[in-house]
Amino acid sequence: MIFTNFREIDKAGRIVISKDIRKHLNIHPGDILHINADDNSVIIKKAEPSCVFCNTIEDLITFGDKQVCRSCARKLAEDSSIYTE
Ligand SMILES: [Zn+2]
Repeated sequence: MIFTNFREIDKAGRIVISKDIRKHLNIHPGDILHINADDNSVIIKKAEPSCVFCNTIEDLITFGDKQVCRSCARKLAEDSSIYTE
């Protein structure tokens, strides 16, 4: 499915993503979008969950409302072992 909209950018640099596109991509207020630009285009993608420490998108564990990769979780566990004594 392809959506095409023409939108005016406002004085603050904002654009509105149409409701049909937001619904199609399951985008909700507060979601993070990844914006890439080159010489003549802007690409906006729904950001994939990533590790809060190293930004990898692989091997993630959900901790509360955050994502942490197993590697960073392991390092945290090792570093925090000094507090368990
Ligand atoms: Zn990580």
